[in-house]
Amino acid sequence: MIVLEVAIPIPLNKTFYYLPSKSVDPKDIVGKRVKVSFGKRTLVGYAITCQDIDDNNSFKLKYILDVLDNVSLITQEVIKLSEYISKNYICSLGESLASIIPVSMKPPKRFLKNKDILNKIIQERHTLNTQQTNAVNLINKAIDKNNYVLFLLHGVTGSGKTEVYINIIENALKHSKSVIMLIPEISLTPQFVNIMTKSFGSDIGIWHSGVSNIEKYNLFLKAKTGNIRVMIGARSAIFVPFENLGLIIIDEEHEYTYKQDQKPSYDAREIAKWRANYHNGVVVLCSATPSLETYKDALDCKISLIKINERINNKELPEMKIVSLKNRIFKSSLLLPGTVEAISKTLTRKEQIVVFLNRRGYAPAIMCRECGSVYQCSRCSISMIFYKNPDLLKCHYCGQIKRLPITCSVCKSKKIMVFGTGTQKIEAELKKLFQNVKIFRLDGDTVSSKGSYEKVYNGIKNGEYDILLGTQMVSKGFDFQKVSLVCIMDADTSLYLPGFRSVEKTFQLITQVAGLCGRGDVRGSVIVQTNHSNHYVIKCAKNHDFVSFYNIEIEHRKKMFYPPYCNLAKISIKNKIEKTVDEDSVTLFSFIDKIIENFNLRLKLLGPVSAYIAKLDNVYRRYIIVKGERQNILKLADYLDMFKQSCGTIINIEIDPLNLI
Ligand code: ADP
Ligand code: ZN
Ligand code: ZN
Repeated sequence: MIVLEVAIPIPLNKTFYYLPSKSVDPKDIVGKRVKVSFGKRTLVGYAITCQDIDDNNSFKLKYILDVLDNVSLITQEVIKLSEYISKNYICSLGESLASIIPVSMKPPKRFLKNKDILNKIIQERHTLNTQQTNAVNLINKAIDKNNYVLFLLHGVTGSGKTEVYINIIENALKHSKSVIMLIPEISLTPQFVNIMTKSFGSDIGIWHSGVSNIEKYNLFLKAKTGNIRVMIGARSAIFVPFENLGLIIIDEEHEYTYKQDQKPSYDAREIAKWRANYHNGVVVLCSATPSLETYKDALDCKISLIKINERINNKELPEMKIVSLKNRIFKSSLLLPGTVEAISKTLTRKEQIVVFLNRRGYAPAIMCRECGSVYQCSRCSISMIFYKNPDLLKCHYCGQIKRLPITCSVCKSKKIMVFGTGTQKIEAELKKLFQNVKIFRLDGDTVSSKGSYEKVYNGIKNGEYDILLGTQMVSKGFDFQKVSLVCIMDADTSLYLPGFRSVEKTFQLITQVAGLCGRGDVRGSVIVQTNHSNHYVIKCAKNHDFVSFYNIEIEHRKKMFYPPYCNLAKISIKNKIEKTVDEDSVTLFSFIDKIIENFNLRLKLLGPVSAYIAKLDNVYRRYIIVKGERQNILKLADYLDMFKQSCGTIINIEIDPLNLI
C-alpha cells in the first residue's frame, strides 16, 4: 500500500502518513504542498516522500484532502536545507519547510511568463575608481571559478557600494548564474530598488511582505524556471528557489532584520552561507559597520576582507562634533543652543538637515513629582509613552491606549509631570524655533502607508523638506546630496539598554546616521549629543575608527564570554500566573543544571532572570541563558523536550538570540 509522508508545520518532531487521493498517482504528489486534516484542524503540509507500507498499518490513515501545487517545489536542496534549519534552530521539519515555502502562497490560474514590457533603461553608470575596481575584480574572479567563497566588503558610507553590486551581478548573469540580493527592509530603499530595476530590467524580481500570495508563487516559479535571475528582497528572499545560484549579496549585513525573531529564529546570513556552499557560489556581506561576528571571521581568515576606505571622489567623511548633555539644565530642551545655531546656519545656506532621535512619541514617561512613581502600562511592566494632540498615553508593546491621568495612582497627587523627549516633541520645538521650516517626521507613528518612503525620499531629494527628523528608520542608506548637517540628539538611547550588543548597536547607529551627510559638494558635519563623551564608543565614532572600536569591544566580549566567543541560547519561560512562572523557571533551571553535569556538556548557565519587560501583554516572562559550544547547546535542547511535555508553562528555546533582555 502506497502512502505519503507529510511534514506539517507544528512543533512536533515527526512526520505523518496519509493516503493519496484515489485518482492521483502518489508519485505526482511528492514535493508538493497538500491539505490534510490533523486532529480537528485542516492544515497545509508538505508531501516529502511516498512509501510502500504493510497494508495492516494503513487502516486508520486519512486521505489527503487536496494537492495545492501543480509543480513540485520541494527539491533535494529544500529537504536538506530544512533539515539544517530544524537541527540548528530547533524546530520540526514542517516548521522549517514553512519558512522556505510559505504555506499561504497561492498558485495563479495561469503561470505568467516574462515576455515582459520592462526593458532595461540605460542606467547612468560610473567608471569605477581604483578601490571599486579592486573589489569587483576579486569578487568576479571567485564567481568565475565556481567556488564557494565568502567576502566581507567593508566600505565606508558613500564609498559607492551600489556600483560594485551592479558590476558583480552583471558578471554572475553573464555566467548564466542567478543572484539573490538581500536588503534590510525593502520599503525603506525605493531608490535602491529603482537603480536595480533600471539596471536589470525584466531579469529582476522584488520580494517583500507586501507581495500578494499569488504574486509570490509567480515569482517562485519564475525564479525556478530562470525567467527571473535576480531577486531583491528582505530576509525571506534568501529562500527563493534559484537552481543555479551563483551570488548572494547581503547589504548592511550588521542589521538585526536578518535574524528572524520568531521560530525558527534563523539568521539569513547563515542560510546564505549554506546555500552558497550547496551551489558553489559566492556570498558578499557588505557594511560600513560590520557585525563583530563577521569582522572576527574576516580577521580569522574565514572570510576574505575587501576594504573601501574612501568615499567616492575622495570626499571627506563628515566632521564629528561631540557635545556633552551633562550640564543641560534639568527639563530644558534637547535642542542645545549650539545645535540650534548650526541648524539655523544650515537652513540659511538652503542645505538640508537630518535630526535623529531614537525615541518616538512626545515623551517617554510621565512621572509623579510628589512620590516619583512612573505611570506604567497595566498589561506590561514598562512605562507608557506620552503623545500630544490628542493627549494620550500609548504602550509601545501591547498597543494599549489610555487617557492622561489627572492624579497619581499611587499618592493621588496632582503634580504629574511629562518626562524626557521623543521625536514628536522635537518636531514641535523645531517648528516653534523656525517658523516656516518644512519637516518630515519619519518614525513608527508616521510611517503606516506603503508609499511613505517613496514620499520622504522624493520630498527630500526635490527639496520639499528642510529637515528629516526621525528614529533609526532614517539610517537606512539614503543617498541625499544636499544634507550637510546631522544632529544626533541623544546618542545614549541605545547605549544603556541592557544587553551585550548595546555598545555595538550604538556605534553602528552613530556611524550610519552620520554617513547621511556630506555626500554632495559640501563637507558634512555631525553633532553628537551625549552624556558620555568619554565613552570609547563615542570617541571611536568621532574618529570614524571602526577598527579601534572593534579591538576594544571584542576584548570585552572575550572577557565576558559572549559571542563571537561562544554560542548562546535563550530559554524563555512564559505564564500568565507569576507564581507559576517563577516556580517553573526554578525547576527548569535545576533540571538543565543536572543535564549539563550528567552529560558533561560544558555549558554555562545563567538565571533564571526576569525579562527586561517582565510582564508583556499580561504574560510573565523569565529567561534562562545558556552559553557554550553550539553542538552542546543543541544536545541540551533535545533533553528540553522531555521537560516541556511535563509542564503547562510555555517554554521556548532560541538559538543565538540577538539580545538577552
Ligand atoms: P554606499 O552604498 O557605499 O554608501 P552609494 O552606492 O550610495 O554608496 O554611492 C554614493 C554615491 O556615489 C552615489 O551617488 C553614486 O551614484 C556615486 N558613485 C558611485 N560610484 C561612483 C564612481 N565610480 N564615480 C562617481 N560617482 C560614483
Ligand atoms: Zn505620586
Ligand atoms: Zn502594554
